[in-house]
Amino acid sequence: MPTEDNLLKLADNKDRKHIAILGSTGSIGTQALEVIEANHSHFVVEVLTAGSNAELLIQQAKKFRPNVVVIGNEDKYSLVQEALNPLDIKVFAGEKALASVVEMDSIDLVLTALVGYAGLQPTLRAIEFGKSIALANKETLVVAGELVTKLAKEKGVNLYPVDSEHSAIFQCLVGEFHNPIEKIILTASGGPFRGKDIDYLKTVTKAQALKHPNWDMGAKITIDSASLMNKGLEVIEAKWLFNLNRDKIDVIVHPQSIIHSIVQFEDGSMKAQMGLPDMKLPIQYALGYPNRLPSKFPRFNFLNYPSLTFEQPDLKSFRNLGLAYEAMDKGGNMPCVLNAANEVAVDAFLHDKIKFLEMSDIVETCLAKVAFIASPQLDNLVETDKETRKIATELVN
Ligand code: NAD
Ligand code: MG
Repeated sequence: MPTEDNLLKLADNKDRKHIAILGSTGSIGTQALEVIEANHSHFVVEVLTAGSNAELLIQQAKKFRPNVVVIGNEDKYSLVQEALNPLDIKVFAGEKALASVVEMDSIDLVLTALVGYAGLQPTLRAIEFGKSIALANKETLVVAGELVTKLAKEKGVNLYPVDSEHSAIFQCLVGEFHNPIEKIILTASGGPFRGKDIDYLKTVTKAQALKHPNWDMGAKITIDSASLMNKGLEVIEAKWLFNLNRDKIDVIVHPQSIIHSIVQFEDGSMKAQMGLPDMKLPIQYALGYPNRLPSKFPRFNFLNYPSLTFEQPDLKSFRNLGLAYEAMDKGGNMPCVLNAANEVAVDAFLHDKIKFLEMSDIVETCLAKVAFIASPQLDNLVETDKETRKIATELVN
């Protein structure tokens, strides 16, 4: 157990964790930097990476002084290089650099806060090189859960969940790892369209879908939350993180997002983790584990929430959750198909190319069309991702 003594020792020794943030300019990335700033005696920023937001990346690097930054978009290289060269910060660009930067000896922990399939290769590389992983990028486990968890086991690498539901489950399991889990219950807010029927969903707009009632997140996960695909991805993420079969993973809609998830043990006892919806808490827990670092986050008060409510998810109107179950049950490369089709569909919806419900049509068609591979290796998954994107893009156009 963490004691006040070992917290102090950590601070005194300047024995700080050296952190690489992949996707530092996004919603999780920027909140992680707030956590690090508030706990600078515990953490050092070693690496920052971003897709294409060079301006924010430069600003962050000037403030946190990492050793290395990587910008995905190679066209922005000279802009970043010229701004950071005088500060003795090394700058790299491109996909290869994004994946290989995690090899640096000086990194202790990698926070995977980039969005989508792009998270897979850097995460695998970081595990290969023995780095602890704070995993926000759930798509990595959806696409390649078996390969990633197998490699992590081989390398003795821990995957600390950042997703609030999985962090909740992890927090409930601390001290209980020897006790079998009877089931876990993932909570879902239900998103902005909770309680709406198919007719209503036919005409919802991008602007409506981007207004999440409880969480302020990146665009892709906000759309996934509105369509319940996010919960589907999280069920698959939970399967791999906690080594559970489908029948041990339940989903319940809890519109207030105060109970972040629940574990039920074999004696019938249930443990839940609660708090106001704020991603900084699970981010801080993942970075600071096994210690709980003090925080100034607003505290939950029961009297402000006299009724916490629960509902069945509506699988008829929100077909994506059922499609995710289907992909998970089939296994093999099907969750990879689900993810790639969904990434294309969400992008098309965000660019006003398709309607809200057409996202599920595209996912369903891709699951039916792409050839099944029972035990895919990495190259099979890369190929599956490519093929699915091709089919999904044709369906969009
Ligand atoms: P975001 O869109 O706000 O940020 C994404 C980050 O990744 C940015 O820094 C962007 O520059 C970078 N990026 C995007 N595409 C890239 C590419 N091809 N190569 C390199 N970098 C790239 O996303 P987010 O909301 O912070 O989500 C990040 C991950 O965390 C997602 O997998 C999401 O599902 C998960 N997550 C997010 C939240 C949340 O509250 N935002 C909660 C739980 C889980
Ligand atoms: Mg979540």
